[in-house]
Amino acid sequence: MTRVQMKTPLVEINGDEMTRVLWEMIKEKLILPYIDLKTEYYDLSLSNRDATDDRITTSCAEAIRRLGVGVKCATITANKQRMAEYSLKQMWSSPNATIRSILDGTVFRKPIIVKGIKPFVPAWKQPIIIARHAFGDMYKGVEWYTNEPGKAAMIYYSGESSHLIDICRLDGPGVLQSIYNTDASIYSFANACFQYALSERLSLWFSAKDTISKIYDHHFKDIFQTLYHERYEKDFALSGISYTYMLIDDAVAQAIRSCGGFVWALKNYDGDVISDLVASAYGSLAMMTSVLVSPDQKFEFEAAHGTVTRHYYRHLKGEETSTNPVATIFAWTGAIRKRGELDKTYDLCAFADNLERATLMTIEGGTMTGDIAVLYDGYPNQVSSAQFLQCVANAI
Ligand code: NAP
Ligand code: MG
Repeated sequence: MTRVQMKTPLVEINGDEMTRVLWEMIKEKLILPYIDLKTEYYDLSLSNRDATDDRITTSCAEAIRRLGVGVKCATITANKQRMAEYSLKQMWSSPNATIRSILDGTVFRKPIIVKGIKPFVPAWKQPIIIARHAFGDMYKGVEWYTNEPGKAAMIYYSGESSHLIDICRLDGPGVLQSIYNTDASIYSFANACFQYALSERLSLWFSAKDTISKIYDHHFKDIFQTLYHERYEKDFALSGISYTYMLIDDAVAQAIRSCGGFVWALKNYDGDVISDLVASAYGSLAMMTSVLVSPDQKFEFEAAHGTVTRHYYRHLKGEETSTNPVATIFAWTGAIRKRGELDKTYDLCAFADNLERATLMTIEGGTMTGDIAVLYDGYPNQVSSAQFLQCVANAI
């Protein structure tokens, strides 16, 4: 059989634990037999990040900048426990955060809908895609607790001048928080959302709380509105899609009653909370894709879940696990399809479509891993990861 040829390599970013095990199985069973795979390989396992003083993470983000498309395996974010487990030189920061800050991206998360796996919200027939602004607000905030009465104010220094803004007077103990964002980051977030909605031909919602936050949240709303009028309104009309701003409480109520099928842009904290709600309401974290899109149209595809540590420890003991590889398969197909589109090598796109179809057909035929078997509307054939991948390979 002739394998599909590639023009430009993908940036292949390997990771840790159970997802690293799945990574090799997916490549061996589902990719290499069909594609003459060209990749620029970066090993982002925690031990290699430590050995390279984390330079490997920066290099891989630069490679995505250069080549345009990356596919990433889940990676461990170092914490105190991992410092001891891996004898690390230091507590390296999250590779996702490092890559995101270099690419200046927005993260889009989309559930994979399969017949037979019922969302917990019965009305949801189409995916709801969450677009989360991943910069600033509470995540870059400064906090302060005081046990004394006093007065709080914000001071802003700019060149020779300074501005003093009164906040409040406290009669007793209390807590304070100060947050910020930048126009540059909000513009790039809004641009990424409009472009993503156009590429998926889905209507876009943006929601915040501008009635209460009359300057901060209102500023987000204004930037979205201005960009929409100046750059996107015509293309949206041509694609038959719409842009709507909604108050966040209104949006939450409408989302629950909707049938899905839209992109929902959210500020950092709202996106953090609502993406977890949407993911579990659709069924499983392992049935959720995630793509980081930069304003200059560079793409990094990954699974939305982590390295599935509990399963990995069982794997190390020689147990065969039933870890769901679907989100990682879809990270590969997303990257392969995007590479095909950019290089106009449409055989790659056709292969990606075919592999996704084979994966969904396998589940719809009743064969699946344990996490979704419990949600299946019927009598599932629950299998190990290796058996599942073999069934998908048979269906290609
Ligand atoms: P996790 O790896 O997503 O796993 C949490 C639990 O969800 C698992 O124990 C498992 O439940 C279930 N699960 C997740 N993915 C699954 C799959 N593919 N198939 C079946 N079940 C699945 O999250 P975590 O345990 O909080 O984090 C583990 C490590 O991943 C941490 O070191 C964290 O830093 C890292 N992490 C990385 C990323 C990333 O690279 N994007 C994202 C999140 C976390 P049961 O055990 O009940 O079966
Ligand atoms: Mg969260």
